[in-house]
Amino acid sequence: MHAYRKELRVAELAVQRACILTQKVFHEKTKGTLSKDDKSPVTIGDFGAQALIIHAIRKNFPTDEIVGEEEASSLRENKELSHQIWELVKETRLDDETSEDVTGGPIKDEWQMLQSIDEGKGAGGGSGRIWALDPVDGTKGFLRGGQYAVCLALIDDGHVKVGVLGCPNLPFDDSAPLSADVGNGEGRGVLFSASLGGGATSRPLSQGALSSGQQIHMKHVPDITQATFCESVEAGHSSHTDQATIAKKLGITRDSVRMDSQAKYASIARGAGDLYLRLPVRADYQEKIWDHAAGDLIVREAGGHVTDAEGRRLDFSKGRTLSENKGVVAAPKAVHERVLEAVISVLANK
Ligand code: AMP
Ligand code: MG
Repeated sequence: MHAYRKELRVAELAVQRACILTQKVFHEKTKGTLSKDDKSPVTIGDFGAQALIIHAIRKNFPTDEIVGEEEASSLRENKELSHQIWELVKETRLDDETSEDVTGGPIKDEWQMLQSIDEGKGAGGGSGRIWALDPVDGTKGFLRGGQYAVCLALIDDGHVKVGVLGCPNLPFDDSAPLSADVGNGEGRGVLFSASLGGGATSRPLSQGALSSGQQIHMKHVPDITQATFCESVEAGHSSHTDQATIAKKLGITRDSVRMDSQAKYASIARGAGDLYLRLPVRADYQEKIWDHAAGDLIVREAGGHVTDAEGRRLDFSKGRTLSENKGVVAAPKAVHERVLEAVISVLANK
């Protein structure tokens, strides 16, 4: 039996169930149930997704550590918000009974939900089994109806073994041209997953049992000048200026495609784009493990190589952050070195 098979299945189903919740939150918001500038829809989505996913991990792997982005202290003080989240969480289920059971079934009550959220306070590190969870990555994308991702990865003794990304606004079609545009929402919603040595797959997100996955691969890039690179929408998260200079140095003429969240890793892994550049804007920023663990494995299992801006592999053994890394450079194996050379020379000449 393939290693981490059960972990992969639990993670896929837990992420799929959490995506049902985030989509519901977004839908309610656009229907005007919640006020437009109110930040709470995001908060609801984040907390609700975290509660559901941690519940599933706890039921299946009670002794594993969890490093999640959110914690519940603000909810314990804001009862109304807590109730709102509970209303959503308690009605979110997969419509296939066996799959729903795998995710741990319903959470008992609101108190239990808050307990679940608070179990994401793990410190991380280089030994044992640690789940890294970002319940809604790309909050700004989520708000603007763009890309966001529900992200979950299992790190064992410092190495990512399982990675799952739920991307409700990416198109089903792996070969659809890379675009930040989400159209009218038809034909969208993809679950990406990978286990170490087991390859990477994509499949449409469903409301019930997992649909069948298909293997994904990065695109062959015979001519780097024809590559498409993606980067964050937010200029505060990575340096658009440095990234443009690097692209120019490589002879890339196409504009970058900007999208929020780990949907960038997923997009290059399926060959919709080629490169992902994330050059630091601030020397002291430490990337969070939950923003990269799943994407790192999915890209590598699809035939890519992922390093930081200095060529080091991302090191997930240092705690909640990637304290030993600066930035991210992800590319197909065959061209990564070439891209990294350009990155290093641009940074050296700043
Ligand atoms: P993206 O959607 O790719 O722009 O990345 C979103 C993630 O960027 C969020 O989940 C934050 O954890 C992270 N983030 C916040 N501030 C910074 C920063 N100064 N540099 C890099 N990443 C950041
Ligand atoms: Mg995030």
